[in-house]
Amino acid sequence: MKKIKNLGMASLLFALMSLSGCHKGERPEDISERIHESSPAIIRWGVKVDTNLFGYYSIKNQEIEGFDIDLAKALTKKIAGPEAEAEFVEVSAKTRVPLVKNGNIDAIMATMTITDKRKQILDFSKTYFKAGQAVMVPENSSIQSLSDLDEGKIVLTVKGTTAASKIKEVAPRVKTLEMESYSEAFTALKSGQGDAMTTDNSILLGIMTNNPGYHLVGGIYTRDPYGIAVDKGQEAWLDTINEALDELVADGSYQKIFDKWFPKDAEDSSIMTEKEE
Ligand code: GLU
Repeated sequence: MKKIKNLGMASLLFALMSLSGCHKGERPEDISERIHESSPAIIRWGVKVDTNLFGYYSIKNQEIEGFDIDLAKALTKKIAGPEAEAEFVEVSAKTRVPLVKNGNIDAIMATMTITDKRKQILDFSKTYFKAGQAVMVPENSSIQSLSDLDEGKIVLTVKGTTAASKIKEVAPRVKTLEMESYSEAFTALKSGQGDAMTTDNSILLGIMTNNPGYHLVGGIYTRDPYGIAVDKGQEAWLDTINEALDELVADGSYQKIFDKWFPKDAEDSSIMTEKEE
């Protein structure tokens, strides 16, 4: 009952009703209410720890760093004040949905594309980053365009992402090998167990930053807008996130965070330059 300690009367009633009436695994609380009624507030963000530039555990600094991390910290303060704390919980593409559905995290901020299929079980904020899928190969590879991805070629991807099905749309004859994480997929590419690796250009950029000798071929072949995902039934929480995002854009904080992590020519990925949505 530790959580109930910080809740107001309305939430207490709601929590008690939920505890007695709901099935195991159902959310007993309104996240927005919990955050606004606790002091200092803690917001639990599900983030990547293996994705350079977005959410990456730095051994040197002994903390998770990246664009998603800085944006989550800024949103936390904007939403719940300067004393509020952002708590980070490691997720992967495979675990992020169950973790937010069972209430272990309040929101997913983890390079997650807004898709119609995912919208059936989650709600998404407005776009906070615009990515698109690309293909990465060693610089000396014979693969120079998507049309070189023919029969017999193996393309590495990661489980739980949009990448495997999308590469099949542009290169239907390739075989895809889905790994558990980006580090596994990249290790497989390095050791020649695959001919190419595919995921968002932004994630591949993070890998190439740390590993010279690789490049992208064939251009960007999907639109993958990233959104912050919350469980269904958390409308007030989602509104709070969207309002705070708008404020971070309006006061220049969003751009500052973007410029800290991405080169100038990545400007097109920023929601500041949003043209289509
Ligand atoms: N944006 C893609 C997706 O949401 C891949 C990124 C990821 O691995 O999180 O499936």
